[in-house]
Amino acid sequence: MLGGSRRDSVEYSAVIPFEEPGSLEIILDMVRAQEVRSVKVKVGRSRDLDTVMSVRRKLGEEISLRLDANGAWNSRDAIAKLKVLEGYGIDAIEQPVPKGDWQGLRAVSESVPIRVIADESVVSLEDARSLIAAGACGGFNLRISKCGGLLAALRIYGFARASGIPCQLGCQVGETGILSAAGRHFAARTPDLLFAEGSFNRYVLTEDIVREDLTFGARGRAPVLNFPGLGVTVDQTKLQQYCQDRVSCL
Ligand SMILES: [Mg+2]
Repeated sequence: MLGGSRRDSVEYSAVIPFEEPGSLEIILDMVRAQEVRSVKVKVGRSRDLDTVMSVRRKLGEEISLRLDANGAWNSRDAIAKLKVLEGYGIDAIEQPVPKGDWQGLRAVSESVPIRVIADESVVSLEDARSLIAAGACGGFNLRISKCGGLLAALRIYGFARASGIPCQLGCQVGETGILSAAGRHFAARTPDLLFAEGSFNRYVLTEDIVREDLTFGARGRAPVLNFPGLGVTVDQTKLQQYCQDRVSCL
């Protein structure tokens, strides 16, 4: 239905949330132990520079490092902060300004030598069209959940690709194996992604509601799923356990 796999495995990035210095060190130790080769660090607070310095100190110069501000800055602040941070080898900055501020997004794109990736700004195909027409960014972060499912996300991907705008696969940190599996299928179909995120399962969930373990392993790698449907089996007992409400769709 999606056009078939175009690779055997997917390589995932680590995502580093806002952390106090002590817990940041623990996460960085895990990233290093797993030999993950790219990380995305959440920024938008006063300690951003310290965090980025800690990441570089702990993980070295080789690892690919990108930032995600989740719209925390205005364009002027974003440009000023990125001019300081760019010395640390930043491969991309995601959503530096709020989602509706496309002019600000373009201003950042034109002012810093770092790839600007739109995330919250690109939800639909119409958003993608407008952002590309405005020359607002140099990449899209596509999340299956945000974009309306696998097919809708693939439509945006196809349009972006035809327009010369590369994409990365994003995720919902804390997603269950169902969404991780959907992301895996998306990545299997799209071998030219800038980066892929997701499948953190065991690292962040106490337990999952699918039987298969989707967690990525060494070097962030996980195999493409070659089973019917999404390739995962929902554990009905666990689903019951976490069920809050029931809605019937007849
Ligand atoms: Mg983001």
